Amino acid sequence: MRKIAIRIDDVTDDMDWEKFGRFEEILNRYHIKPLIGVIPKNQDETLCRNTKKEDYADWLKDRQKNGWFIAMHGYDHRYVTKKGGMFPLNHFSEFAGLEYEEQLQKLKAGKEALSDLGISTDIFMAPAHSYDYNTLKALGQCGFTHITDGFGSRPYSFRGIVFLPIAKRRSAELKAESGITTFVVHTATMREEDMIGYEQLFQEHKDQFVDYNMLYQMPAVKRSVWGRWMEYWMAVLKHRLLS
Ligand SMILES: [Zn+2]
Repeated sequence: MRKIAIRIDDVTDDMDWEKFGRFEEILNRYHIKPLIGVIPKNQDETLCRNTKKEDYADWLKDRQKNGWFIAMHGYDHRYVTKKGGMFPLNHFSEFAGLEYEEQLQKLKAGKEALSDLGISTDIFMAPAHSYDYNTLKALGQCGFTHITDGFGSRPYSFRGIVFLPIAKRRSAELKAESGITTFVVHTATMREEDMIGYEQLFQEHKDQFVDYNMLYQMPAVKRSVWGRWMEYWMAVLKHRLLS
């Protein structure tokens, strides 16, 4: 059966802590350790829902110590281009379409901001899932080795970066016989019935949900040009279906 890891996007010091806490409780009950995407210098006001947490850095470090994974989720989470890049699920981006040098500076600044919090990571989570070849090159330059994105049933490598795939269609992933993927969660927009839905999901598929570490540790296969082409068009199709 296909294994499923969890990633939670949009972690900031002023996020909706109550909702995050409610989801964390559920994860803990089912012993699931997720990947969380931390925005180093958030400027996206739609994500600010609380006063800043005072012990934020310690909170992050405690989670990391406890086996959670942390990804750098962009730099400031502001969409400055209308590009979808190489995985066009959305046609807007913080990175795709910008010059290499500008992307490099953002990634460097993000890394520094995380380091000020005492956090280091080699996983990148692109806001809106949008990145391009310049992003990959700049990521490599900044010491990032992994991206949480792309479609596939196991980690794959492309242009020197390991892609840790996300789910294409949840119902199909739950029924698949083998492989591994990631369900993407945004706690801030979840209602109570969504929380209950996750509890039921974890209960019903107890053996399928795994720690993010399992996905991260799995050896990557090389992605062919054909595989890349398929992924691109599947993203285009998914975008059309959703919009
Ligand atoms: Zn985000």
